[in-house]
Amino acid sequence: MNAFQALGLDADLLQAINDMGFETPSEVQEKSIPILLSQETDLVSLAQTGTGKTAAFGFPLIQKIDSNSKKTQALILSPTRELCLQITNELKNYSKYKKSLNVVAVYGGASITDQARAIERGAQIIVATPGRMQDMIRRNLADISTINYCVLDEADEMLNMGFYEDIKSILSHTPKHKKTWLFSATMPKEVAKIAKKFMKDPVEITVGSKNMGTSNVTHEYYLVNHRNRYDALKRLADANPDIFSVIFCRTKRDTQKVAEKLIEDGYNAAALHGDLSQNQRDLVMKSFRSRQIQMLVATDVAARGIDVDDITHVINYQLPDEIETYTHRSGRTGRAGKSGVSMVIISKSEVRKIRTIEKIIQQKFEEKQIPDGKEICKIQLFHLANDIKKTEINHDIDPYLPNINEALEDFTKEELIKKFFSVEFTRFFNYYQKAPDLTAESAGGRPEVSEGNTRYFINVGSKDGYDWKSLKDFLTGELNLDRDDIFKVDCKASFSFFNTDEKHADLILKTFTDYQQNGRYVNVEITKDQKSEGGGRKRRERSGGGRKGGGKSFNDKGSFGKRRSGSDRGDKKGHRKGSRNKNVESSIKRRRSKA
Ligand code: ADP
Ligand code: MG
Repeated sequence: MNAFQALGLDADLLQAINDMGFETPSEVQEKSIPILLSQETDLVSLAQTGTGKTAAFGFPLIQKIDSNSKKTQALILSPTRELCLQITNELKNYSKYKKSLNVVAVYGGASITDQARAIERGAQIIVATPGRMQDMIRRNLADISTINYCVLDEADEMLNMGFYEDIKSILSHTPKHKKTWLFSATMPKEVAKIAKKFMKDPVEITVGSKNMGTSNVTHEYYLVNHRNRYDALKRLADANPDIFSVIFCRTKRDTQKVAEKLIEDGYNAAALHGDLSQNQRDLVMKSFRSRQIQMLVATDVAARGIDVDDITHVINYQLPDEIETYTHRSGRTGRAGKSGVSMVIISKSEVRKIRTIEKIIQQKFEEKQIPDGKEICKIQLFHLANDIKKTEINHDIDPYLPNINEALEDFTKEELIKKFFSVEFTRFFNYYQKAPDLTAESAGGRPEVSEGNTRYFINVGSKDGYDWKSLKDFLTGELNLDRDDIFKVDCKASFSFFNTDEKHADLILKTFTDYQQNGRYVNVEITKDQKSEGGGRKRRERSGGGRKGGGKSFNDKGSFGKRRSGSDRGDKKGHRKGSRNKNVESSIKRRRSKA
């Protein structure tokens, strides 16, 4: 008897589990499945991301559904469209030998009539995002008055995203006798509140300690100056040629910007955030899953619950506003028993947040240095050498070999190797020779370089509904600056202060000349005591912190080992497109001006 059979699962499920290659149940499955199968009970199950919660409720749910009846018998609520589709797919896999079982996904951004039609054809299980489910109920397109089970998946995330009222309202359309199963990675107060309010004596299951990060993930942080964040990101990517990563930014705007810069610099990157259409998001996810994208730049909301295995690195381009969110970010890697790295790029002022996170995840961070030029060159050379070693020979080139051999016949093997690597690496070396050290001096020492040396007064404050975060958002939006360009936002009752670099002063004063908001003048002035910030030294350092290095003469957009498809290479190396071996293609090492 196999371990899944021992949990009490039926033959058709066991067959599907076998097909999926699952050998042993995970801990949360082992603990949840027998209870859900044998009892009619509410349940709260807490386990880290990547521990197999979907199957923990999916298997028993499928077994309990009466597939001879077309009635909707279960509703699964999940926070995002991506997750909703993912759960639906998983459930379809689990139930592939239960032919008459239909699972329908209901989520925003796609045709509601199509979804309604699918439900009408008979959906025993509906997997839905709260917003769209509300719509469906309001328009009488779905009937959940007969369900026996309601699953709240990733409950902490749903509540984080402000779905409390939706959940409450949806539940009010479900029958009293139904059982509620709540699955969550963490148990913040809001989740406890849901459990208390909407559940009856739930069985509680906790796997590992609550709030623990995934243990096969190692955590690293890199101290840099604000200005160098993007360059640091690129170096981290260059130092990990086979990187397959999710990069988290705080806002949609930053997400889009970072992705655009990466693409421009020749990386296989894409953005994933809520301003994209469903279609665009599906496309991005498809390319990511198929590894055409190596760096997925995402907001927390858009990346929630994304289940792509084998993600090697999670990079926190900026730390999340809510420290708890860090657990979810780092949970994108180290899945299904694999190991992963969660990297955080931070400025000195954020080090204390690292200490807070360490307490939450009960794991230590390692402070690491942004790799320098030499290290990266070494890694890349070695990587290319390895790629060459692994490359299968393309016999289509055989007819040309006599000519090639003739052209190169005077060289020894050693000389050829040197020449070949010189072709690929000279520009790269030149660039990295001049590349500055990006690691900021360790904590305790000198003050942060980039905190802006010009301080402003602005006549709006908390009375106008702002806090430091929303004021920062307002300013970055109006001024078209990065969040990192605005520092030390201090929100008082009827006025506030903030800092920027001196170079933005003109823009700021101009933008807020005769500027009105809701019929009221918003006024910005430079404050008198700004010199107390000690700006002089900072400015000097800035001009020395050269991002200008690296030959500007390069006009291609090649990157360093990030391109797998090569499909958009219109430059002089385009002949490599025909290569059959993706590894060769991905190893074309070129570098644009900036690192
Ligand atoms: P969670 O919801 O806890 O974050 P998922 O349900 O998304 O985790 O599962 C994470 C990954 O682990 C998925 O790829 C899933 O197919 C896989 N998985 C789940 N259960 C098992 C198992 N018993 N054996 C092997 N892989 C599993
Ligand atoms: Mg999950």
